Amino acid sequence: MKRVYNFSAGPAVLPEEVLKEAAEEMLDYQGTGMSVMEMSHRSKAFEKIITEAEQDLRDLMNIPDNYKVLFLQGGASQQFAMIPMNLMKNKVADYIITGQWAKKAAAEAEKYGKVNRIASSADKTFSYIPDCSDLPIDDDADYVYICENNTIYGTKYKELPNTKGKLLVADVSSCFLSEPVDVTKYGIIYGGVQKNIGPAGTVIVIIREDLITEDVLPGTPTMLQYKTHADAKSLYNTPPAYGIYICGKVFKWLKKMGGLEVMKERNEKKAKLLYDYLDQSKLFKGTVEKKDRSLMNVPFVTGSDELDAKFVREAKEAGLENLKGHRTVGGMRASIYNAMPYEGVEALVAFMKKFEKENL
Ligand SMILES: *Cc1c(COP(=O)(O)O)cnc(C)c1O
Repeated sequence: MKRVYNFSAGPAVLPEEVLKEAAEEMLDYQGTGMSVMEMSHRSKAFEKIITEAEQDLRDLMNIPDNYKVLFLQGGASQQFAMIPMNLMKNKVADYIITGQWAKKAAAEAEKYGKVNRIASSADKTFSYIPDCSDLPIDDDADYVYICENNTIYGTKYKELPNTKGKLLVADVSSCFLSEPVDVTKYGIIYGGVQKNIGPAGTVIVIIREDLITEDVLPGTPTMLQYKTHADAKSLYNTPPAYGIYICGKVFKWLKKMGGLEVMKERNEKKAKLLYDYLDQSKLFKGTVEKKDRSLMNVPFVTGSDELDAKFVREAKEAGLENLKGHRTVGGMRASIYNAMPYEGVEALVAFMKKFEKENL
């Protein structure tokens, strides 16, 4: 068996330990004689899986009791619609545009109400996070929306925007569980799990209880109402059961590792290794303003499309996969999520040094 270092932005690397455990339990989950994929979502065994998963996530993130945890489907993209449908009471929302995902979320919300794009970093190809200390927040805004870690461009908010008392909604798909967060600062925290937690197909929504109401936009489908899923404890219909099971294992792995404080230290150490090298390299260059650099997604370029392509090709031959940048940006991107070991980043930097020597 050969495992590569997988730098994919998502679906992405998962802890090997978790995959091995899942493999061992594939044919017979804890004496049930069947795989989690084959069992009823109403069974005792699955009830235990989803209850523990929720509790472990609550422990890890220190989620207060007045927040619900929902395990949903439809990807992060479905939340682009679900959020306005459930929260746009005044039919106004403020969006901060820091990349493709925020842009898409804003465009979707526009189907349901007025969207103010109150700040943007589009002028410099989203290579920074705009100053959000004093934004023109609309008095009528139902919420302020951010994409907290910009997977494609490699930026991250180091400080949350001043929403002037308005509700904050954050897409944390690519920084979920990468470091501690203060849940009480948000109305909704949500993310697709395929970046930093589990297999594609599950979305986790952490939502403050008072935001879960029947007062949604007319015509909102039952499946797109938070209340439907909150009332049914994420079992209104068949949930993405296998995905939830793997997420649960990753939560236990994170707890065993020491929790989010420890993950933050590990992630900082990994990112520093790569950024320090980039900062002194004569061939490679990071594309993001230093103060806004993501710990999870690290884009870089050589300045030559040909060399970039050669790098991605040769890296793959060396067992370093999925380093090609997003199709809208070009260059390279190394996603170094929780499950990427330090050794993986060491191997990448060693390869980059060698490539620099050979190609400069
Ligand atoms: C990947 C990603 C999305 C889209 O996720 P889907 O689950 O494919 O809909 C949205 N937001 C961010 C920040 C992402 O990284």
